[in-house]
Amino acid sequence: MSSADPVAPSQFPPPVNSPDEFVKRELDAEEDRIEVGVAIVGGGTAGLACANRLLQLLADDPQTMESLGEVPVAIIEKAKTCGGHSLSGAVMRPGPLKQLFPDLSREDWRQLGFAFGEVRKEAVYAIPTRKRAFRVPTPPPFKNHGNEVVSVAALARYQQEQAEEAGAYVLTETAATQLVVEGGEVKGVRSGDKGRGRDGEPQGNFEPGTDIAARATVLAEGCWGHLTGAAIREFDLGEHREPQVWELGVKEVWKVPKPLDRLIHTLGPWPLSLSPKYAQVAGTWIYPMKDEKSGDDLVSIGFVVELEYADATTSPHDLLQLFKTHPLVRKILEGGERVGWGAKALPGGGYWSMPKLSMPGAVLVGDSGGMVDTMALKGVHHCIKSGILAAESIYDSIKAGSSDFSAYEEAIEESSVGKELWEVRNARQPLQKGFLLGAPLSGIQQITKGKLPGRARWHRNDEKPMFIGKTSQKYPKPDGKYTFDKLSSVYITGNATRDDAPNHIRVQQNVPREIAETWRWMCPAGVYEVPDDAPDEGPVDVIVNYTNCVQCGAITAKGGRLTPPEGGDGPLYTVT
Ligand SMILES: Cc1cc2nc3c(=O)[nH]c(=O)nc-3n(C[C@H](O)[C@H](O)[C@H](O)COP(=O)(O)OP(=O)(O)OC[C@H]3O[C@@H](n4cnc5c(N)ncnc54)[C@H](O)[C@@H]3O)c2cc1C
Ligand code: SF4
Repeated sequence: MSSADPVAPSQFPPPVNSPDEFVKRELDAEEDRIEVGVAIVGGGTAGLACANRLLQLLADDPQTMESLGEVPVAIIEKAKTCGGHSLSGAVMRPGPLKQLFPDLSREDWRQLGFAFGEVRKEAVYAIPTRKRAFRVPTPPPFKNHGNEVVSVAALARYQQEQAEEAGAYVLTETAATQLVVEGGEVKGVRSGDKGRGRDGEPQGNFEPGTDIAARATVLAEGCWGHLTGAAIREFDLGEHREPQVWELGVKEVWKVPKPLDRLIHTLGPWPLSLSPKYAQVAGTWIYPMKDEKSGDDLVSIGFVVELEYADATTSPHDLLQLFKTHPLVRKILEGGERVGWGAKALPGGGYWSMPKLSMPGAVLVGDSGGMVDTMALKGVHHCIKSGILAAESIYDSIKAGSSDFSAYEEAIEESSVGKELWEVRNARQPLQKGFLLGAPLSGIQQITKGKLPGRARWHRNDEKPMFIGKTSQKYPKPDGKYTFDKLSSVYITGNATRDDAPNHIRVQQNVPREIAETWRWMCPAGVYEVPDDAPDEGPVDVIVNYTNCVQCGAITAKGGRLTPPEGGDGPLYTVT
């Protein structure tokens, strides 16, 4: 039963007080804290690119290396290993990675196990119905010839090894939970406590968090960063910007008997509704992956949904299951086996939604800075490039004895990151009007490569009124072979959240049914449940099974807040 008035998730904000909870106003005394040169929060592709480049510069400059103390570079990563929480499509533009590791060839990348082949053939299909598909000319953003299919989870592991060999101190299983700001400047971060019980009580294995003081702090937390959000608020980094908007992608990796000979994208509209009322916009990918070490033929397949939709029963996880039942897809997976699954949100606002990237003492890199071109679904190369530029700018500032890193911001604007994102700055917003109305305008923006003036507006995902529609009626019943339920998907991520850990998901739990159903269907990990005996009318009490959470971050777009759980919790992605 629906509410009488339209309800939007923003009417039920999460119980969070960012300035009080997530910002620490004073560093602990010297003897109680860890001192490092540069603290990098997040061991994904972006943070590690920053570490790799910085250590290259420091290797040629022992004096500056020494001035940074015993720990010149520290990487703080909440997953069990770097890359453990990283997920991407992932077809990558190769330039920035070549720049970062100039001695490696693309064949070396494949032998090292993080790259899976160059794109030589590609095809784009329109899918009008659940049985039909026809090929269409490849639109410019989908052109991938010459790009490389990679796994960001595996790439981050390689980057971690390189960083450690060059002298970085990598603190895995460590969540940074507070930004330390003293005298208007970021002075480092505080790591979270470990070993608390459900109600926050210290248990036998309790370990308190520690202040990590740094001359420079790099926030590389990926999509929806906890400290990034606190920094944006603290330093007003979103002023004069458009609000950030989000997309949620669900990915599977399949081992297949027959190699796929081309990279595939589909444009729909199936399996989504074209009705503007549903406001559904999505895309899919199928990428071939040849594992040169094992000889296996793999396929990366995924479904990405803009979190602007209005039908509360939209479930990216189940839409991917449905997508796999289409004959075009089914024949690719036939006789194969699912070997990986994961889900992750990405920032979709592009150029106008990028916050200011520097503040006194700190910078934002990669997805923390919103550097994704969602028309082309490309962010990995921007993450690497931003990490490189942040490292160079921090190095120069440290040498000059300064904590002003604003040169980084200018460097981004002048680089391929700024230029590429500028060209598509107004291309995605028209789709907020729905696919049919928005696609022609979006096409004009792409063809003119950003030459049309103006600034297209975004509106916030959580302000979209939700209704209970019919998308869920299409989802297939899982067969355990080609289609799966959410819990078996979470199971294969190696998710290891302690059953008696404190709840890290902040949502109001007594909400109208539209909001409860939105969370229930959206969450790819089955965290939210609406009790069977919930009343037909009026608010319902949502059950939050937070230990299932794979930390995709999507809840933040639709009225909740993901905060970092205890370090080491969550999935352990390997091939995503
Ligand atoms: C579904 C999907 C498909 C995509 N497809 C493509 C594609 O095909 N090609 C492409 O180029 N781009 C693609 N992208 C975009 C691209 O994957 C991202 O831009 C990129 O991977 C982000 O890298 P990152 O290092 O910024 O973030 P991440 O890889 O998310 O790394 C952030 C790290 O920070 C850690 N962390 C976060 N907060 C804390 C904290 N407080 N304390 C400690 N650790 C913390 C996380 O655990 C994580 O390891 C896709 C993205 C998605 C989600
Ligand atoms: S509960 Fe976790 S997995 Fe579910 S939507 Fe929120 S962040 Fe994603």
